[in-house]
Amino acid sequence: MSLPSFRLDGRRALVTGASSGLGQHFAETLARAGAEVVLAARRTDRIQAEVERLQAAGLKAHCVAMDVTSAASVCEALAAAEAQSGGVIDILVNNAGVSGNSFFLNLEEEEWDFVVDTNLKGPYLVAREMAKRLVAVKQPGNIINIASILGFRVAAVLAPYCASKAGVIHLTKAMALELARYGIRVNAIAPGYIETEINAGYFDTEPGLKMIARIPMRRLGDRTDLDGPLLLLASEAGRYMTGSVIEVDGGHLCSTL
Ligand code: NAD
Repeated sequence: MSLPSFRLDGRRALVTGASSGLGQHFAETLARAGAEVVLAARRTDRIQAEVERLQAAGLKAHCVAMDVTSAASVCEALAAAEAQSGGVIDILVNNAGVSGNSFFLNLEEEEWDFVVDTNLKGPYLVAREMAKRLVAVKQPGNIINIASILGFRVAAVLAPYCASKAGVIHLTKAMALELARYGIRVNAIAPGYIETEINAGYFDTEPGLKMIARIPMRRLGDRTDLDGPLLLLASEAGRYMTGSVIEVDGGHLCSTL
């Protein structure tokens, strides 16, 4: 009996929002598992520096400029990613995201559009472009959307964030339904709280510390806690998984009511 492999040799992966935090880490994890990775983000100076670091470590990495809210930018970036890596992208991590910080009564339309365009429209635009390219060459692939536990539960001052992440969870299932016939799997990871630029400083505050105390495992997540779920979904080990959402939160969604 042979055990499943989590290796990604011969695969080409693109990670959006790879200029910091989880996205930067996902790109390195996929590259260390053998994939050729393309880091996509708006801040090209940052991803270029990261590509140089990964290449110096003997990994295969490239970068492309991409604003996930712009269909034209997404299309150009996917074409550039194929040109650089020498073939169609067959793993997509839809990671780019923003949060917001307004009570609902003060929530301006600009903030709503900014958050929902980035977190929900963005994954749709990037996944559609990537899937079209895979279907055109009749190749299988897989898409991993980064949702959040706030797609299942809610927190104050984050209404568009919570709504967009709930949307990502349902979009994942709708895409899984339609893309399975083309051999494209679509799954999501719903992380709990992990310290990055998106929540910088919050965990030093009293509400932040109280929140950590409500996590059953009594600690924040570490970005490496997502490595196993990411590689499961990206590799052949997860070959019968589509439309699934993996919660990785130290039990936070099970916190006592
Ligand atoms: P982060 O702020 O470090 O990373 C988000 C990245 O997305 C940044 O690099 C940012 O530049 C990029 N981005 C934003 N708008 C973009 C656009 N229009 N085009 C391209 N890139 C864009 O924060 P993070 O914690 O690494 O967040 C990564 C993902 O994980 C997000 O989707 C976030 O919602 C999700 N998430 C994070 C946590 C957490 O606790 N850190 C928990 C659950 C889910």
